[in-house]
Amino acid sequence: MRESLIVNRPDLPPGTPARAVVDLDAIRDNVRALRDHAPSSDLMAVVKADGYGHGMVPAARAALAGGATWLGVATAHEALALRAAGIDTRLLVWLLVPGAPFADLVGADVDVAVTAPWALQEVADGARAAGRTARVHLKVDTGLSRNGIMPADLPDVVRRAAVLEASGELRVAGVFSHLACADEPGHPSIARQAAAFDDAVRVVEAAGVRPEVRHLSNSAATLTARELHHDLVRPGIAVYGLSPVPQLGAPGDFGLRPAMTLEAWLAAVKAVPAGEGVSYGHLYTTPRDTMLGLVPLGYADGIPRHASGGAAGPGGPVAVGSGDAQRVLRIAGRVCMDQVVLDLGPDAPERSGDVVTLFGASDGVAHGAAVPNAEDWAQAAGTISYEIVTRIGVRVPRVYAGKEVLL
Ligand SMILES: *Cc1c(COP(=O)(O)O)cnc(C)c1O
Repeated sequence: MRESLIVNRPDLPPGTPARAVVDLDAIRDNVRALRDHAPSSDLMAVVKADGYGHGMVPAARAALAGGATWLGVATAHEALALRAAGIDTRLLVWLLVPGAPFADLVGADVDVAVTAPWALQEVADGARAAGRTARVHLKVDTGLSRNGIMPADLPDVVRRAAVLEASGELRVAGVFSHLACADEPGHPSIARQAAAFDDAVRVVEAAGVRPEVRHLSNSAATLTARELHHDLVRPGIAVYGLSPVPQLGAPGDFGLRPAMTLEAWLAAVKAVPAGEGVSYGHLYTTPRDTMLGLVPLGYADGIPRHASGGAAGPGGPVAVGSGDAQRVLRIAGRVCMDQVVLDLGPDAPERSGDVVTLFGASDGVAHGAAVPNAEDWAQAAGTISYEIVTRIGVRVPRVYAGKEVLL
């Protein structure tokens, strides 16, 4: 572990209004737990989208410490940034557009997904320019109808790939696909996609092409569908300790713990009389004389405006106080660009400068925990925990914590 590349900032400037503390030990331990769920497969930790908002390079290092043997990203820029940080693990990139820097990717020893017929020629050209053999993974669309080669086009792509293998431009290192409804175990599309994937693997092998790895499982399938693990599983959200199947279990039920804690310091606590409208649009009215607390985070920081609180529904949850005075409150009124308001109650002990926790390493208040987690926020905003953590904005500094991974 190269310590110098792990960012740690206990030294945030005084007065920093909020921070996201990322527990790298949690990421490492989550990967260990996921390996136990898929004991006969390799594990590719998906670190796209800045490591789901946690910081791509630190998350990647922590995942490798937990036993990941591959990393996965969406974009060429992400792949090259990992290489620039000195991470030399097997690394797959799967969302490329015509004109993508194929020569740079092949030159950096990145495995490249071929997700559409056009990509084969561009990879081969990139390999020639880089002066080395490209490793490609054929991505087959088995029923997601998103990114991938349609089964009807697969035989022709495989035939061309076999020719390019023979001439040394590329080697087919993998065949993979992605599931549409893995988060709904038993959904009939899962068995259909699994069968279509098996068919695709047969088409590839019948052409004399021998991929090293077949892979299909995201986090949900890694946790709930052992028969789909194949040679490699590709969990993302579970690496960060969030449940991909919240209707089936909290993180702890799968041996996971959320890695990100989002905290802020109250910018003001003040007395307001009964009957006052709070925040834009006055969605919330103080029901009695009370104390309002001002939290310096808003939708520009990734706090969803759909988690506003008022007549339409309870707002996003925030843990305030400590010890016996600890409680979970709901946002009062609209989420603004930079701030939200809490109704702390008439006897609030809180003071300006006290810390509050929007979400953290817990199973969530929906499961009786004292501190909310990102899934609670997803519920309040009508979305999924993925969107909560990936959208925490650049204005919120990430602070890395961890006993072992940091050492
Ligand atoms: C994002 C992604 C994953 C990880 O999905 P999770 O649901 O976060 O586990 C795996 N494979 C592909 C192709 C992806 O795009």
